[in-house]
Amino acid sequence: MEKKKIDWENIGFSYMQTDKRYVSDFKDGKWDDGTLVDDANITMNECAGVLQYAQTVFEGMKAYTTEDGRIVTFRPDLNAARMVESAKRLEMPVFPEDRFIDAVVRTVKANAAYVPPYGSGATLYIRPYMFGVNPVIGVKPADEYQFRVFTTPVGPYFKGGAKPITICVSDFDRAAPRGTGHIKAGLNYAMSLHAIMTAHRNGFDENMYLDSATRTKVEETGGANFIFIAKDNKVVTPHSGTILPSITRRSIMYVAEHYLGLEVEERDVYFDEVKDFAECGLCGTAAVISPVGKVVDHGKEICFPSGMEKMGPVTQKLYDTLTGIQMGQIEAPEGWIKVIE
Ligand SMILES: *Cc1c(COP(=O)(O)O)cnc(C)c1O
Repeated sequence: MEKKKIDWENIGFSYMQTDKRYVSDFKDGKWDDGTLVDDANITMNECAGVLQYAQTVFEGMKAYTTEDGRIVTFRPDLNAARMVESAKRLEMPVFPEDRFIDAVVRTVKANAAYVPPYGSGATLYIRPYMFGVNPVIGVKPADEYQFRVFTTPVGPYFKGGAKPITICVSDFDRAAPRGTGHIKAGLNYAMSLHAIMTAHRNGFDENMYLDSATRTKVEETGGANFIFIAKDNKVVTPHSGTILPSITRRSIMYVAEHYLGLEVEERDVYFDEVKDFAECGLCGTAAVISPVGKVVDHGKEICFPSGMEKMGPVTQKLYDTLTGIQMGQIEAPEGWIKVIE
């Protein structure tokens, strides 16, 4: 298969249309067989549930080429399961987990020419999503839905190595107790846009959200979970019912314990103790881990000992081990790597 002529190292993180996308429609209480289509555009009624009341959920994952030339994805079963939880919370029909994985495999295969080569640092980003399509004007769930998967190649997240970022404690809240913070839904992002633009205007890379009930505990950023490294090398991550259960973060905690022999802890993390940690990182599919060098709380700076030049040593080990597993250089736990072709 001939790869597309793309400058893989310089494509950045933006949408590039690829050849095929997967579509399945839900109507009269059931999903149809699903198919690959060429048209990247969607036509729907002006009153579609997704347009009026934001009834939509999504997933994000990557396909990439391993050292031995295979195209693989990382733990797609967890994305499938998470989308089930997201759909249920928004009263949407569940797209079966085995069909989710099949749809991802078929879409990636059909766009194999866009999967970046090994060593480029680029990947093929995969976006499964689902939304209500029939007209809904009285507030209620839609009756008809579409599940789709598209792919878009994305460049290396960090060009020339991961530089630590500076984040600020946000004055806005991300998720209410007993709300929707734990599901992957566009609605959580729509309302975060003002907060992230405010952070950027103030010179920060990201927001640190605190729990909205007490504003004493660390939650997450707009799109990534936190890990902290304590001075005794323990890996600590916030436990909360209102953060999105990141697959990257769960994998990092496993790698810390089972590959690196580190102590791990998922617990309440109070903002007051952030100053005592040695390292801090943000976990998500896009960057795997982004190191955080500094947290600013209304002018008060917390500078982690790992500094602003490079990842902290433990964060680096976690990053190297997890990306080594993903790229096929380190043996993966059973079921983590799904070979596509
Ligand atoms: C997607 C997402 C993450 C990261 O999850 P991964 O499964 O690691 O990609 C973290 N926080 C939020 C709010 C997200 O939407």
